[in-house]
Amino acid sequence: MSLPTQLVDSLGRIHTNLRISVTDRCNIRCFYCMPNENIQFRPRAEILTFEEIERFTRLAARLGVNKLRLTGGEPLVRADLDQLIAKLVVVPGIKDVALTTNGLLLAQQAEGLKRAGLQRLNISLDGLKEETFQRIARRSGLQRVLDGIAEAQRVGFEKIRLNAVAIRGITDDEIVPLGEFARQQNLELRFIEFMPLDAEGNWETSQVLSGDVIRGRLESAFGNLVPAERPDPSQPAMDYQFADGRGRIGFINPVSQPFCGACNRLRITAEGQIRNCLFSTDEWDARALLRSSASDDEIARHLVECVQAKKPGHGIDSDEFVKPERAMYQIGG
Ligand code: SAM
Ligand code: SF4
Repeated sequence: MSLPTQLVDSLGRIHTNLRISVTDRCNIRCFYCMPNENIQFRPRAEILTFEEIERFTRLAARLGVNKLRLTGGEPLVRADLDQLIAKLVVVPGIKDVALTTNGLLLAQQAEGLKRAGLQRLNISLDGLKEETFQRIARRSGLQRVLDGIAEAQRVGFEKIRLNAVAIRGITDDEIVPLGEFARQQNLELRFIEFMPLDAEGNWETSQVLSGDVIRGRLESAFGNLVPAERPDPSQPAMDYQFADGRGRIGFINPVSQPFCGACNRLRITAEGQIRNCLFSTDEWDARALLRSSASDDEIARHLVECVQAKKPGHGIDSDEFVKPERAMYQIGG
């Protein structure tokens, strides 16, 4: 059987976007992602090597993947990440390599990442008060994140985007200050609804601060938000511009307004399991093949099978919803 040139699922969704988790480790413990203690990290021998990640990326690119995002856990705790980036940016077919980070180690690494060819950076920032940071991360460090953002700007990263998870009862009064900060710093800001992927299983619908509620609060403070163009229909965010033209803001509303119908994403976990959805309960083992005598074509076929098995949607709002066994840090957000 010859290989297709595109990763198309049974609903016709073409998958061009691969999120690569490079570690399940992290230097903080956000309650919406990780447990606070007694964490069983994967043994290092199970984690894909840079060479294995590069090989998998090359064969995914042959199947039409053109955008990569490195994530984790916290990707910057993986030693020499810039060396992996340098390998990935030159893979034929890859047009865009981005990174999502909590920013704590960014001040030290921003220059090397830029030099390695990293194109885009998303930095997670849920609020501007150390108290909020500690309630969420259960560790201290807001100033280090702010220093990381400043350094990333200094070394010339363009299009830095801030990601904020909004949680009712915790970040309500951070929304407007974050909007102001993003406008002042000329950074794009995206609010993400809290999804049921926390490790401790405490997620409740009542904690989800929906994108519409957040938008209302921002409009009260800054005036109307004007819908922005959507150059890429598969992008999960609904983007807006402030009426005065200063700044852009987006909302990723997986809970209140699922966007599964346009999803073009695939994921590979740090230990090499391919997933066709954040909420998938099935995985396809790429590591076993990468560490066997399997050919590139055989591994590619495995990826094709994974895509073909993709379900129409995550079904968070349905009674039959089954929370995946893995929490966010074990998948790669
Ligand atoms: N450690 C990096 C960071 O925090 O940016 C990268 C990995 S983290 C899992 C990726 C993104 O997922 C972050 O922006 C984080 O805030 C978000 N996230 C984690 N758990 C989430 C949840 N349960 N619901 C919504 N977003 C979540
Ligand atoms: Fe770490 Fe990112 Fe998860 Fe927070 S969201 S615990 S920074 S991996």
